[in-house]
Amino acid sequence: MSKVTAIVLAAGTGSRMQSKQKKQFMEVKGKPILWYSLFQFEQSLVDEVILVTGEEDIPYCKKEIVERYGFKKVKDVIAGGKERYHSVYNGLQKAAGEYVLIHDGARPMITEKIIEDTIQGIKQYRACVVGVPVKDTIKQVSEGKVVHTPDRNSLWITQTPQGFETALIKQAYEQMMQEDQIAVTDDAMVVEQYGGQSVYFVEGDYKNMKVTTPEDILLAEVFLDSYAK
Ligand code: C5P
Repeated sequence: MSKVTAIVLAAGTGSRMQSKQKKQFMEVKGKPILWYSLFQFEQSLVDEVILVTGEEDIPYCKKEIVERYGFKKVKDVIAGGKERYHSVYNGLQKAAGEYVLIHDGARPMITEKIIEDTIQGIKQYRACVVGVPVKDTIKQVSEGKVVHTPDRNSLWITQTPQGFETALIKQAYEQMMQEDQIAVTDDAMVVEQYGGQSVYFVEGDYKNMKVTTPEDILLAEVFLDSYAK
């Protein structure tokens, strides 16, 4: 059995939440948002978790989250970087598994099924991303004017985890980090552009949304209700 590492990202500042506390540490149903992802990985087939957070939040994460809730799979709590891809890059340096799942700590509705399907997706495709088909029509806009309406049937929303053979994603990240201008918003893009490997979708769940703005907290409270029982 190949060893599996999960990198859980919690180094964002969460400026769109308009709250004093960083969104990954805000409580929903009595637990920090970050707790839910760590809990799911703890129960899963994943062997080790690398938690990436802000340098200043490392002691809090170690004491108030990892130790307090007894997350035994968390092998390391490390500092992230300015952009999400810096945080992922730092996490990849510590990933010891043959497979790696990269997950936003701000997506607490991750499930065991999603984790298992992602691992299966790596075995099948080498590189995969969890997502769902879009429900709305999406338009490309420039200065307020519609310039293109892509066929809705070909559009999917990208979520996390995104799963890869570790050697593949590390090589793609190394190559990207040589560039001056980096404009990637997820890890699949890194493999698409620098890995020479097709990326495949694994069907996720509409509930696996990223908690970004205050109204998302209300939705998370509804979706995470079962934990409180
Ligand atoms: O900012 P955004 O919501 O896109 O962040 C997605 C995930 O990446 C969050 O879990 C956030 O904590 C993490 N992140 C990070 N390092 C950054 C920026 C975001 O770990 N520099």
